[in-house]
Amino acid sequence: MKTANREFMREWNRKLVLRQIRKEKETSQINLVKKTKLSAGTIVNITKQLRKEGFIRYTGKGKSLSGRRPEKFCFNSDARHVISVALFALETKISVIDLNGKIKHKLSYPTEHEKGEKTVLTNLAKQVKSTLLKYSIPKEKLNSLSVSIEGSVDEETGCLKISSHFGWKNVPVRDTLEKMLGCKTFIESEGRAMALGEYYFGAGKKADSMLCVDIDSGIGTAFIKNGEVYHGAHNLEAELGHSLVLEDGPLCRCGRKGCLEVVSSGSAIIKRTEEMVRTGRIKKQGSLAKISGLPEREAIRIIFEMAEKKDAAVLKILEDAGYYLGLSIANMITYVDPEIIVLTGYVSEEDPGVFLNIVDKVYKEKLFLPNMRKTKIVKSALGEDSVLIGGAAVAYKGIFE
Ligand SMILES: [Zn+2]
Repeated sequence: MKTANREFMREWNRKLVLRQIRKEKETSQINLVKKTKLSAGTIVNITKQLRKEGFIRYTGKGKSLSGRRPEKFCFNSDARHVISVALFALETKISVIDLNGKIKHKLSYPTEHEKGEKTVLTNLAKQVKSTLLKYSIPKEKLNSLSVSIEGSVDEETGCLKISSHFGWKNVPVRDTLEKMLGCKTFIESEGRAMALGEYYFGAGKKADSMLCVDIDSGIGTAFIKNGEVYHGAHNLEAELGHSLVLEDGPLCRCGRKGCLEVVSSGSAIIKRTEEMVRTGRIKKQGSLAKISGLPEREAIRIIFEMAEKKDAAVLKILEDAGYYLGLSIANMITYVDPEIIVLTGYVSEEDPGVFLNIVDKVYKEKLFLPNMRKTKIVKSALGEDSVLIGGAAVAYKGIFE
């Protein structure tokens, strides 16, 4: 028992020192003694070990008033790499990320999810192996694999519980990949990973609590407090997209009618516009006539352009969608009272100010006790890379915490 305790304390101290070195641009042993309150002997031993493992890099000698000048060193973010994967039904992205959230390499391929889970995961393992070869990453430099998936994930069991995008249920993604690759593997849902990316490396970097609202094909949310994503009792938390806003509204993929997702998401806005063009309520003119069949990001760009030109029918669609989203955000703020809200997804990325302005106006009008809050709403800082970087942040927990 005593040996176990000693081991635990040693590892605890090692991670404490490692976190402190990572936090600072440059440091020294004297500085680490001051900051961590550990003894000089412990710091000497730990830094010696960390240098051997490649985690710290010597940068020169500091000033001294008397005697020996202290050695200066910094964190070596290239000491290990994380392979972070965004596994989406249409496309899979693989990235090599250093220990500071910097993407070193990135590639993608079509997922072909219709071929089934076995083929998709076998193919993913193959692609990861060839990525390691392509960028000459030795096994000892690879810390772990982190996979972020479109769907509901149970991070404890490592299973994808359910995904309407893939049409899968209870797939043991983590264990299957760990067995295939012999590498420590983490899994997380795409939405939570995206939020973690923004929290640690993006727009939410300085906040203590953050709500991430993803306005994309669907609408997703994640709430983070003190660095931890809130997980519900059944891992089905923060499903803002499936909160009911319209009595007898359009049918949602969840089988119910009037979910926020079928009213205010990118797909919903595009679908409504297409319908109005088809039925002649919006004149078939210019690029708006061609939006059917376009990738959603391009279609929404065209819709926003029309709104900027003050097309009354398009503005009405955005006003309706923006009203329910603004109302839902006001409710979310009332429940969890976050310091900051980060908006992600292609709708917020492409919006020149015609849609989010409506959302902003409505949420401010509908908010409970607005004068007592300083909630800020900002756009994503990482854009499409937030999922990959957030996936790496999931893996960092094993290294630093
Ligand atoms: Zn729904």
